[in-house]
Amino acid sequence: MLSEKVAIVTGASRGIGRCIALALAAQGAKVVASARNAEALDKLVEEIKQQGGEATAVVGDVAVDTDASELIDQAVAKYGQLDILVNNAGITRDGLLLRMKNEDWDAVLDTNLKGAFLCIRAAAKVMSKQRSGRIINISSVVGEMGNAGQANYCASKAGLLGLTKSVARELARRNVTVNAITPGFIVTDMTDDMTDKARQAMTEQIPLGRLGEVDDIANAVIFLASDQSSYITGQVLGINGGMYM
Ligand code: NAP
Repeated sequence: MLSEKVAIVTGASRGIGRCIALALAAQGAKVVASARNAEALDKLVEEIKQQGGEATAVVGDVAVDTDASELIDQAVAKYGQLDILVNNAGITRDGLLLRMKNEDWDAVLDTNLKGAFLCIRAAAKVMSKQRSGRIINISSVVGEMGNAGQANYCASKAGLLGLTKSVARELARRNVTVNAITPGFIVTDMTDDMTDKARQAMTEQIPLGRLGEVDDIANAVIFLASDQSSYITGQVLGINGGMYM
């Protein structure tokens, strides 16, 4: 479905991003996988190649301007075009507002929001010229609902929704669509260190009665990256088991 397409996935070294990279490659896309952990990226690239796909790793920190532009440049240098950008890299530094340190605010905003901005700005130059492209931003249900103890994270994820809609309006005439996905609680390292009690309390808030799987997010990315979603832009797709409607 995505053969001949070139896709960048940030935060591809584990969790949701890794699954998205594998899914895009399985659909025939050439995948440029990025994150800071070189070893994990190399393993992913090897796995994609073993499955008959094509991928390359670009190590970098999305919050660093030169790394973000280098990522886009390397993708274009290697594969000659850029069709899909998935901004998935993200971190948490949780804490109640009154105790939140400036560094925790800055680190989360820099990675989750500025990182996406830097990658989008660099990718938009290529996609605008091509007059085609798909940008998919991985936000979070808590960017819509808020969450005590995550003011920095929720602000970054809510900011990502404003960024998505503004850029969607700016790039629409260039045939570049920009959408966001807001995952609910998905089983990954990010949710792994929760206590059983916290996990149970969380599950009780979810009408479908379970946490989501990384494939639930990857499936939606595949759709938003495909030609079948060509009339969808500036939208927020909630994948949260019904916990926010
Ligand atoms: P994860 O397992 O912690 O993975 C995060 C990924 O982001 C890793 O590949 C990490 O790679 C990368 N990353 C972090 N900082 C980076 C930086 N500065 N530059 C480049 N890459 C960076 O998290 P996840 O659960 O898969 O989450 C993926 C995305 O989904 C995040 O944006 C997260 O906020 C969002 N999300 C997750 C959930 C959930 O329940 N899991 C819910 C809603 C939204 P390196 O450490 O190798 O750099």
